[in-house]
Amino acid sequence: RDGCVSDSSDSVISSGSDAEGHVHKVVLLGEHGVGKSSLARIFGGVEDGHESEETGNTYDRSVIVDEEEASILLYDIWEQDSQWLKEQCMRMGDAYIIVYSVTDKASFEKASELRIQLRRARQSENIPIILVGNKSDLVRSREVSVEEGRACAVVFDCKFIETSASLHHNVQDLFEGIVRQIRLRKDSKEQ
Ligand code: GDP
Ligand code: MG
Repeated sequence: RDGCVSDSSDSVISSGSDAEGHVHKVVLLGEHGVGKSSLARIFGGVEDGHESEETGNTYDRSVIVDEEEASILLYDIWEQDSQWLKEQCMRMGDAYIIVYSVTDKASFEKASELRIQLRRARQSENIPIILVGNKSDLVRSREVSVEEGRACAVVFDCKFIETSASLHHNVQDLFEGIVRQIRLRKDSKEQ
């Protein structure tokens, strides 16, 4: 196995809540077709092969990060027609993963919009957010450079990672990253 290709199932051990009984709600945001459901299925340990267009999925997994268990409830429910549900999405998350496709400039611009919307919805809160440039395997159709992605994350005060759901590249890092961000913010709140 290639050193940089990782599979999230390595660190997934069970479902349920962590030692403190706390479940972290993580919400996927991003335009249609950027790879949200593909990333969610990898996290959820769902076998590839049956690509469905269904939305409204949640994945409940416990992962070990830095030798500590964390419980994540991942919501892949953004693409609903209901405006009410979209507003719920903006309110319910303990953390957010905003996904764009590096092959689609419009989805990158949409990601900025979503970041602004999120800031507006959760004004005083310091919510962990990771900006994700997915489809990094599609080298020849790339429209957004790594530098642009990184710069955007700096402006929007969030973490940044490029992933390839197809190659399972950086997907485990993404979900470990979100757990670390949640812990960091939680610790700084408690001080
Ligand atoms: P969603 O609409 O954001 O949930 O996106 P999907 O997960 O349904 O993915 C949309 C399409 O992009 C599907 O055909 C996926 O197979 C494809 N896709 C998703 N992630 C990647 C990736 O990292 N690389 C490539 N080449 N294709 C991807
Ligand atoms: Mg989807």
